[in-house]
Amino acid sequence: MRRARCAVIAIVAPLILACGRRADLVITGGMVWTGLSTGRAQPGAVAVANGRILAVGDSAEIARFVGPRTAILRAAGGLVMPGFADGHTHFIDGGFQLAAVNLRDAATPAEFIRRLKEHAGGLKPGEWITGGDWDHELWRGTPPPLPRRDWIDSVTPHNPVFVNRLDGHMALANTAAIRAAGVTAGTVTPSGGEIVRDPATGEPLGIFKDQAMALIGRAAPEPSPEQRDSALARALAHAASLGVTATAHMSASWADLAAYQRLKQAGRLTLRVAVYLPLDQWRAVAESVARTGQGDDWVRIGGVKGYVDGSAGSRTALFFEPFSDSAGYAGLMQHSDAELRAWIGGADSAGLQVAVHAIGDRANALLLAIFDSVARAHGARDRRFRVEHAQHLRTREIPRFGARRVVPSMQPYHAIDDGRWLAKRIGPVRIRTTYAFRWLIASDAPLAFGSDWSVAPLDPLLGVYAAVTRRTLDGRHPGGWVPDQKISVGEVLRAYTYGNAWATFMEQKWGALVAGRYADVVVLDRDLFAVPPESLGGVKVRYTIVGGNVVYKNP
Ligand SMILES: [Zn+2]
Repeated sequence: MRRARCAVIAIVAPLILACGRRADLVITGGMVWTGLSTGRAQPGAVAVANGRILAVGDSAEIARFVGPRTAILRAAGGLVMPGFADGHTHFIDGGFQLAAVNLRDAATPAEFIRRLKEHAGGLKPGEWITGGDWDHELWRGTPPPLPRRDWIDSVTPHNPVFVNRLDGHMALANTAAIRAAGVTAGTVTPSGGEIVRDPATGEPLGIFKDQAMALIGRAAPEPSPEQRDSALARALAHAASLGVTATAHMSASWADLAAYQRLKQAGRLTLRVAVYLPLDQWRAVAESVARTGQGDDWVRIGGVKGYVDGSAGSRTALFFEPFSDSAGYAGLMQHSDAELRAWIGGADSAGLQVAVHAIGDRANALLLAIFDSVARAHGARDRRFRVEHAQHLRTREIPRFGARRVVPSMQPYHAIDDGRWLAKRIGPVRIRTTYAFRWLIASDAPLAFGSDWSVAPLDPLLGVYAAVTRRTLDGRHPGGWVPDQKISVGEVLRAYTYGNAWATFMEQKWGALVAGRYADVVVLDRDLFAVPPESLGGVKVRYTIVGGNVVYKNP
């Protein structure tokens, strides 16, 4: 029996030669979820050697791999599963955010102003204040007021301020920042953007949306490489503490890519990253890949990332019908259809993977049509187009994801956040196919989950809670907001593990606990399949392991 099993392991993973090998690490006493199905976890153990999974089995089988130098981790009944992969982050921005002013939960304009004043007090004159992630939807008023520069000028006289809304689709500049950028009443509004102005004088009031944000953003100094490296290091420590072992970094800059490479060289990376550079730079990305390759299993150029529209929160998502609370206005396109076609076609012909942001139903339909026409023109290939967010879909678009193997790369936390106010913005009919997790899975879409950090919290367990319960953050939907679209724990975990591996062409390397794959493993303090749904968000990470190394432990 023992010999037969060894033979089986040798056939499954001939390079590993599991028989007779000693493990570097064994994780015992847990409930093991391998990630190969959406079924429940089973009692078991995992053996790791040379940074890879050596074997998964029951405790007795795995005990054979224990030698004198094997480290033993005790899971104590908790869940042992593949590390969480986050399919959509702005990872290094997240690291900057960890040290930036926090406006996310400023519940009133007065609190918003107080926090900026306090933060400015600790800075040198001339230093910029960025980040922030404010949310005016928390404030009283119908509609809630957008912040204005005259609210904050007196508390930030010596520091340019350019703080963004949490969705990243609009930002508030103070007068110092507007001056530094040379923006005046006479500045022309860039297409695909908006400058909120005084109706009488045309003077900017402080809010810049989408493509207009660059008018101010480009005046802010670029962080130095050292600052970027420390932001990345902060982000890595945060990710490790949350069990995140891989991510796709969307809309990354070349400077971000260089930071990953520096930390990899220094042996400081504790997560695998696929970097998606801007779509309109596809030629430079293709040249870089042709010159030096895509990278390795730690840092890879995943492809390119573009935008169709904006966000529902900023009313810049593109819909077929107008917003329900904004007469006649149906959102905007950040780029023309022709531009998008040319860029996506160019990137695809260069063999790059293409990921594009689409939120509104019309943005999604338009993007799927472009993907179809590019695929038809260039012929069959394993291209794995990605739609980032895929938030509002008409019923007829849903089956197209499964049929064409297009990845809906979605963020469940957004559902319980946006669910607080989306019904008033888009009405009762369109919300039925908003964050349509259940229907996408039913139509066999290759679903991948993530957070959109720093737009939303990085914690994947909050995402698990959100997708399973769909309970909005305001507590007003205890049975779930649009409950038809709830999915099971196993389905959510698949989207957070294998789903992201597939979406980045890494499914043979990680995303499941299978002999030969990288030992990227997380151990939780409880079995997610056994805790009540409302408690899912409170489950804690006990160990995070990447490439066989324990990179986080919570004793
Ligand atoms: Zn994003």
